[in-house]
Amino acid sequence: MRISLGSLLVLAALVFGCRSGQPADEPRLRVLILDGQNNHDWALTTKSTRATLEACGRFEVDVATSPADRADAEAWSSWSPTFSDYDVVLSNFNDGGTCLWSEDMKSGLVAFVAGGGGFVVVHAADNSSADWPDYNRLIGLGGWGGRTPSHGCHIRLVDDVWIQDAALDGLSGSHGPQHPFVIERWDDDHPVMRGMPPKWMHAKDELYDSLRGPCEGVTVLASAYSAKTERHEAMVMTIDYGAGRVFHTPMGHVGGTDPVHCVGFQTVLARGTEWAATGKVTLPLPAGFPTESEVRVVPPQDVDWRRPSSSTKR
Ligand SMILES: [Zn+2]
Repeated sequence: MRISLGSLLVLAALVFGCRSGQPADEPRLRVLILDGQNNHDWALTTKSTRATLEACGRFEVDVATSPADRADAEAWSSWSPTFSDYDVVLSNFNDGGTCLWSEDMKSGLVAFVAGGGGFVVVHAADNSSADWPDYNRLIGLGGWGGRTPSHGCHIRLVDDVWIQDAALDGLSGSHGPQHPFVIERWDDDHPVMRGMPPKWMHAKDELYDSLRGPCEGVTVLASAYSAKTERHEAMVMTIDYGAGRVFHTPMGHVGGTDPVHCVGFQTVLARGTEWAATGKVTLPLPAGFPTESEVRVVPPQDVDWRRPSSSTKR
């Protein structure tokens, strides 16, 4: 009797109680995480990001780590991952504002996304490369790294409509003390947001405010009210770029582990990465999603991604 690899994987999932949201015999999407420079502990962020993406069962993950020495021009000139080997590139990379990438690598990312690839921007990755106009266009909005009002608009909620606003104060990236905050959904029909409650409590995190950029093709899917700025700040965004898709969340500060182990954040990260890769979302809402008043923090390996029909068989 011949037994296919797929059958064996399904059997293994049943025997070992896999909590993945992906049938075991479906091909995984290929993700490349970029790291190696960041004002955060990038190794810890990559470890957590990889764990979340692998636990949901939808992805296989590679990591491209940049040269460690910012002054090693030869090493930087030869660092140029082959983006076309992947369905989606996820940036956990922050050069602090001055782009360190070679021209080949820069044009490679632009061509990859413009040609239909996916790009995911998480937390301080939107601080990166302020001096690279195409990067600012890719991420829609960014902060710090030398950004000034000359880098573009804020995006602001007025009468339940998100507008571009260049007339605000001079801030170009800011946040107050870390705290839990409510995420409010603005689009209940987008594949990333479908099925989520209208409001849910995100675990203690930095609430980025006053991000600024070209704002071209930006759609705000969810926001959080900042008591500091007394405005809603975009927390989940998509950006149209050529034939590709960019997914951007300023959430996800790694210091403690609360924000990145928030079940809501892990859902946004995994679904956003799937959407950037394919334009669709098959991942279900995991069990134990946060409520409006209750934070839910669960390590990636313990998040239950199974669809409701199978979760009743526990
Ligand atoms: Zn941070």
